[in-house]
Amino acid sequence: MSDRDTRHQQAMRKLKSHVDEKVANATEQRGLLLVFTGNGKGKTTAAWGTVTRALGYGYKVGVVQFIKGLWECGERERLVEDANLEVAIMATGFTWDTQNREADTQACQAVWADAERLLADPDVYLVVLDEITYMLKFGYLDIATLTRALNNRPSEQTVIITGRNAHRELVEMADTVTEMQEVRHAFNNGLQARRGIDF
Ligand code: ATP
Ligand code: MG
Repeated sequence: MSDRDTRHQQAMRKLKSHVDEKVANATEQRGLLLVFTGNGKGKTTAAWGTVTRALGYGYKVGVVQFIKGLWECGERERLVEDANLEVAIMATGFTWDTQNREADTQACQAVWADAERLLADPDVYLVVLDEITYMLKFGYLDIATLTRALNNRPSEQTVIITGRNAHRELVEMADTVTEMQEVRHAFNNGLQARRGIDF
């Protein structure tokens, strides 16, 4: 064996023992809280990817979209045919252009009622709260209400929270936090959001 091969084999052996140790240490089983935050692209896409993954095993999934429709969404179009998926979308009120505090709060509270029901249902394996971080930021929903529902949820249920500037308390209580870092975004170079890619 060449020196290079020997070094490679040693490195692989070390890596394997490292991974084996981590696998052996991961013994707890329960639902998780995941937060996908940061300014870069990919938060909602990653959430829908996980939804697809869970549906693939036949689990029940609830997706709550906290910004009026975040407009079109290709994943929703495709996956909504799955009887195991429930989607609740903020019906009226909040969009980026109509900032009417009272109407927005009402719209938020209405869709939050769906979220609360999903967060209390032990048959629901995964709940996505898409763009909910903005509801906290604008004061349409309070953090205590959200953390209470998260803490009281069924132990096997996983929740994904997406949106920029995630509240510190959410980051602290989450099991997995990913910050999407923007290195570059096409939009800032005058490129339009693309159907089937950006939404
Ligand atoms: P995506 O839905 O593509 O996963 P996201 O959820 O991470 O994006 P949001 O802040 O929710 O990002 O943005 C919603 C829309 O804005 C999407 O069409 C997305 O592609 C686009 N977008 C995401 N990040 C940026 C950015 N840094 N600058 C401009 N547009 C962005
Ligand atoms: Mg998003």
